[in-house]
Amino acid sequence: MPEKQIVLKNCQMINPRDINTYLARHDFKALAKAQAMEPDEIINEVKASGLRGRGGAGFPCGSKWEAARNTPGDEKYLVGNADEGEVGTFKDRYIIENDPFTFIEGITIAAYAIGAKQSYIYLRSEYHRLRNLLENAISQAKDKGFLKHVKIDIREGAGAYICGEETALMDSIEGKRGEPRYRPPFPTTKGLWGKPTVINNVETLMNIPNIILNGAQQFSQIGTERSKGTKVFSVSGDVAKPGVYELVLGSKLRELVIDLAGAETVKMVQIGGAMGRIVSSTMLDTSLSFETILGAGGVIVYNESRDTIDIVLRTMEFLNKESCGKCSPCREGTEAMVKILQKFADGRGTPKDTGLLEELSSTMMLASLCGLGQAAPFPVIDSLQYFWHDYESRIK
Ligand code: SF4
Repeated sequence: MPEKQIVLKNCQMINPRDINTYLARHDFKALAKAQAMEPDEIINEVKASGLRGRGGAGFPCGSKWEAARNTPGDEKYLVGNADEGEVGTFKDRYIIENDPFTFIEGITIAAYAIGAKQSYIYLRSEYHRLRNLLENAISQAKDKGFLKHVKIDIREGAGAYICGEETALMDSIEGKRGEPRYRPPFPTTKGLWGKPTVINNVETLMNIPNIILNGAQQFSQIGTERSKGTKVFSVSGDVAKPGVYELVLGSKLRELVIDLAGAETVKMVQIGGAMGRIVSSTMLDTSLSFETILGAGGVIVYNESRDTIDIVLRTMEFLNKESCGKCSPCREGTEAMVKILQKFADGRGTPKDTGLLEELSSTMMLASLCGLGQAAPFPVIDSLQYFWHDYESRIK
């Protein structure tokens, strides 16, 4: 079976409001082991594990930590990114709801490794109800003496999708309007308030206690050559069993959406949210990995009754609304795409319009400042490739 529980192993097994139920299973053993190691040893272990960021970009976690650790300075920050705003993605919410303690243990180990005394959990504003749960978990961990070397505070977003992007997220924590920053410099050298900062997704940090306790080697044996470990997916749409699933990286899309989530007919699957990729039913044997297709873990299944143009138009309307407006390729490009897609939705499209969509796509991918504008064209490009007939049928 492709299912394997590393990240979710405590979910439904502990009381998320009672640290004693967590201690009965794990006792913060990974933190104790980490504190007996030199920070560089921890970083080398994480590097050897092959763990890559689970927020979508897939950057090697240990290298990120190393860059921040090696940047001179006493003041450093660790941020747990819980701004899960991607369309159809709800796995971090499930993780925090069920096991906030592994998340906190992961934060404490990461902070110790990079030399951060202050840590923030950046919580999506729509997840406000999780704040109390997290505060309770932090307070219990503190009372038990597990937070002696790091302070953990919670910062809530204000509803902007772009604040999941790490440089916009830092602006938001600093109390500014969240807008992506030019890179370089990267956050690991110049992050929060100009200090070295590591930003890791919730799921990334959830893997850390397991790697420290059981060693890099056991982790690196799971998955594919460049995608180690497991991935947690949230599956929704036209499936019998929507929910959260953890699979070994490299598992087939078919195993997730048909065998586990129970999709009966599939027209297309959107993988990785609004900026993710769209695949057709002929591609269900695609493996889910960083080498092929992955994203942050949101998987939306559409059956044969769904209208391609409608799906792509709604997605682009969302991205246009959430574009922060800082750079023109994205600000103007998403708006132009919405207008063209609306023409197809109304049956007024022309062959020239499909050419325009392609031209806009390449300009946006090349010239946009951040990932939102660079990836916004993916639903258009993929749908033109795999569902051309749906556009053709709407050409006047
Ligand atoms: Fe803002 Fe879009 Fe430019 Fe990113 S690509 S900076 S979201 S306008």
